[in-house]
Amino acid sequence: MNATELKTFHESAEGTSARVFRAPGRVNLVGEHTDYSGGFCMPAAINFETLIAASLRADRILKLTSVDFGDSVEIDLDTLPMDRQKHWSGYVIGVVWSLRQAGIEVPAASLTITGNVPLGAGLSSSASLEIATGTALLALGGNSITGAKLARLCQIAENDYMGAPVGIMDQFVSANGKAGNALILDTRALTFDLAPIPPHLRLVIANSMVKHSLADGGAYASRRREVEEGAAAIAAYKPGATQLRDATLADLEVCKPYMSVEAYKRSRHVISDSQRVLDGAEMLRKGDIEGFGEMLNDAHRSYRDDFEASCPECDILQVIGQTQPGCYGSRLTGGGFGGCVVSVVEAEASDAFVAAIKAEYMAQTSIHPEVYVCATADGAGELS
Ligand code: ADP
Ligand code: MG
Repeated sequence: MNATELKTFHESAEGTSARVFRAPGRVNLVGEHTDYSGGFCMPAAINFETLIAASLRADRILKLTSVDFGDSVEIDLDTLPMDRQKHWSGYVIGVVWSLRQAGIEVPAASLTITGNVPLGAGLSSSASLEIATGTALLALGGNSITGAKLARLCQIAENDYMGAPVGIMDQFVSANGKAGNALILDTRALTFDLAPIPPHLRLVIANSMVKHSLADGGAYASRRREVEEGAAAIAAYKPGATQLRDATLADLEVCKPYMSVEAYKRSRHVISDSQRVLDGAEMLRKGDIEGFGEMLNDAHRSYRDDFEASCPECDILQVIGQTQPGCYGSRLTGGGFGGCVVSVVEAEASDAFVAAIKAEYMAQTSIHPEVYVCATADGAGELS
């Protein structure tokens, strides 16, 4: 359902005129597992989005309708349910709860929701739903806050209402994305710069369709511990260095004898990936797309060999991707142990690229990948 159809659908169901809001999904180009070290990452908002048609109500009800789930719920704003974690409406109610915690009043409203961000495919449909919700409810209530603050409140909704320990990147880029650009996000300062993605390029996201059980906690927890061990060893040597953000690869070499092999390798990935974000931004600003693509391939090696967060299926996808005509570089994106590989591809080569990825991945793994050809997009807003 497109925005016009959504508006018509909402208006005939609610009997009143609607405003329509949108918020995009995202892909992270580089800078993986850098956020809890205060480092940099490089997400781009993509042209897959959640749409919400919204109108005020005269009662104290929040009526939520999902076009995609064919489901509607009514919530009493005076007794907000705190147990909707297993239902799609939890992402919306969590944002209402979080806005109120921050002292922002939420008006009674009807929201009708649809979207084309594939669910659970690693493109962050959840963050786009949260940011679209926040954008709609702030506008209906006559409130205005910065994109960074909205991102933080939506992250709190996902962390503390939904119980998912996610960083702020997804919400941040969904709120603040800029078409034609990637964000260079400083996860410590919560500020960003832009780096241009030329319009003749596509970000092609290939879903391996696997998620290994390592991702369920054990591996994340041990990676985090090892990163903290690396940071602690460096802090003991370098005054003022509290996180890996404050360390260089030279610092890491000096401190190598004082940490486990695992801590050394994980730290080398985090420090170098954060630096690759800054180096990649410079390459984009100079128009050095070849160099940028090589950097992406390097980042994959670092994620695979030092952070040990890849898997055989994603390595297969990455090799297929980086060797196709018109592709500058490919890497595993997201938390790891499965998920998606992102490739930077010439738009005119993208159809052939998708066909090759599908055929070769199927031939090697017997798995059908889902492949999305994306362009960059603006962050959340109201449709006029
Ligand atoms: P991801 O964020 O990677 O897509 P998540 O599991 O974090 O995956 O979030 C997916 C969930 O977000 C869905 O199961 C659903 O509850 C909610 N969601 C996302 N988009 C929509 C939508 N358009 N309508 C209703 N719920 C949605
Ligand atoms: Mg999510």
